[in-house]
This record gives sequence, C-alpha cells and structure tokens, in this order.
Amino acid sequence: MIPASFEYVCASSLPQAIRLLQDDPEGTKLVAGGHSLIPAMKLRLASPALLVDIRDIEELKGIEIGDRIRIGALVTHAELLSSERLRQALPLFHDAANTIADPQVRNRGTIGGSLANADPAADWPAVVLALNAELELAGPAGRRRVAAKDFFVDIMTTALETDEVLVAVHIQRPKPSAQFRYRKIRHPASGYAIIGIAVAVGLEDSVVSDAVIGVTGATARAFAPDAASAFLIGKSLSSRNMEQAASIVSEHAEYLSDRYASADYRKHLVKTEVARALSSLKTS
Ligand SMILES: Cc1cc2nc3c(=O)[nH]c(=O)nc-3n(C[C@H](O)[C@H](O)[C@H](O)COP(=O)(O)OP(=O)(O)OC[C@H]3O[C@@H](n4cnc5c(N)ncnc54)[C@H](O)[C@@H]3O)c2cc1C
Repeated sequence: MIPASFEYVCASSLPQAIRLLQDDPEGTKLVAGGHSLIPAMKLRLASPALLVDIRDIEELKGIEIGDRIRIGALVTHAELLSSERLRQALPLFHDAANTIADPQVRNRGTIGGSLANADPAADWPAVVLALNAELELAGPAGRRRVAAKDFFVDIMTTALETDEVLVAVHIQRPKPSAQFRYRKIRHPASGYAIIGIAVAVGLEDSVVSDAVIGVTGATARAFAPDAASAFLIGKSLSSRNMEQAASIVSEHAEYLSDRYASADYRKHLVKTEVARALSSLKTS
C-alpha cells in the first residue's frame, strides 16, 4: 500500500500543466482530488514518474450559470451538492452528488477527475450523458470540445489525449419545465454505482419533446441509448411507454458481472430503475 517514488509539481497555470504533460505524456499524471489516482498508486496500478497537481489552476474552478452552465473540472462533488443556484437551474447535479460516497470523498473528489478517470461505476458519466454535455479539453494544439456521448471510449478510457487537460463541462441551461431524476443502486461499502440511471425529460402538452437516459455502473462504459430517446419523443408518458422505454435501455448493452452483481441482475436493475425513474415524473 505504498506508492512507488515519484516527483511532484504543483502547476500554477493551464499552459504549465500542458507543458509538463507534453514533456513526458506516458510518465506524467495530473492529480486533482487524488481519490482515484492515489489509491491506484498505492496498489501500484499506476506508477507515474511525475505528479502534476492542478488544484491551484483558477481556470479549472467555479460554477457559472447563464444561458449555458459551465462547471470547472476542479469543482468538487461537495460543491455540486451544496450550490443552491445550480440546484435551482439543474437539480440533477445535486441529486447525483448526494449519492456519491461519503463527505470525505465528496470534499476532495472533483467532477473533472471522475470524468477523466472513466471508472465504469462512477456517477458523473451518466449525468453528463443525460444532459448532452460538452467537455472542454485543452492540449498543446489548443482547445476542443467533445460531446459526452463521444467522450467515454472504454473502461477507464476516454477521448482525452495523454497531453490534454479536461477544463470544464458545458451544458445548455434546461427549460424550467424539464424534469430530472437520478436513481442508483449503491455498492454497500464504497457507495459506487452498481448501476446508476440519470434521466432528463422535457414535455410539451403532455408529449415528450426531449428525453435522454444515461446509464452507468452496468457496462464497461456509460451509455445513453439513442433508441430509447427516439422511442419516447413524440409519445405520452403512459405506463406502457415507460415500460417499453425501460426495456429498450436494458436491451442495449453487454453487462458487467462481478461478485456484487451478475450481468443478468444488472440488466434487471437497469430495467426496473429506468421504469421507476420515468414513472416518478409528472406526466403533464
Ligand atoms: C471510498 C471511495 C468511494 C467512492 N465512491 C464513489 C461513488 O460513489 N461515486 C463516484 O462517482 N465516485 C466515487 N469515488 C471516486 C471519487 O469520486 C473520485 O474522487 C473521483 O472519481 C476522481 O476524482 P479526483 O478529483 O479525486 O481525481 P484524481 O484521483 O485526482 O484523478 C483521477 C484520474 O483523472 C485524471 N485527472 C484528474 N483531473 C483531470 C483533469 N482536469 N484533466 C485530465 N485528467 C484529469 C488523473 O490524472 C487521474 O488519472 C469514490 C472514491 C473512494 C476513495
């Protein structure tokens, strides 16, 4: 449980962090909250030669709420839980943050670290998928934005290049009538998602105008099936339609299996939790 030895630099700017990554992309790791990376280093699953601490980089901080919402990569789970302005504009962040681990983890862990880490059991991937978020990345070649649906590539693998930094999450501010739900079956010890479901639904005249259902925990990478959105849009939230949408989501992917939940059980949980999330929405 002791990491291999490493060098440590606390970067004061984004260009400095990118330069350090560029110097040795394979041997360098950014550290934000350290609540995924440091345990991995202690288990020697990661042994970077250089740790670049990004906690002082101002550009990666803060929550801005206008027509669009910007959440800096360094914003902690605790900040997302406690921001009343964000809760008013987009309650899904509060609801998901409330399920993450315990206060110690929430006080240190960041949304950027969680997304960059792409742990299949992390909560934020389902949320950014349901919100059609864009992720702002910065590297030696400049900035680019990647849609959440293109960001998660595989287990612990994202669209980030080894010399890029995740700067912020950008979301279109939803209409006041939009409804959100986050449901999760938690691992009893860590709190990680055995499965987690993020639902974002818009209604116009009792007919679904927008619907995205993000799923985490169940498969190697979080997903939001287009087929479920296509099925729901233009329909009412009748029991039958909600059940059908839940079936479509659960049929989508190959499920993980481990000592806590078999693949069949995870599939069953996805179906029942999507149905429960949808049936708790106002239907008109
Ligand atoms: C006991 C325990 C319980 C937990 N339970 C949950 C849970 O219920 N739900 C959940 O979602 N998570 C859970 N976590 C994980 C926790 O939320 C982590 O804090 C989070 O996943 C990683 O965020 P971090 O800021 O700590 O990242 P770090 O550990 O600092 O970094 C993680 C990885 O991301 C990279 N990285 C960090 N920031 C950036 C950036 N801005 N740009 C590019 N790369 C970056 C690092 O190089 C590293 O590879 C738990 C952790 C612990 C220890």
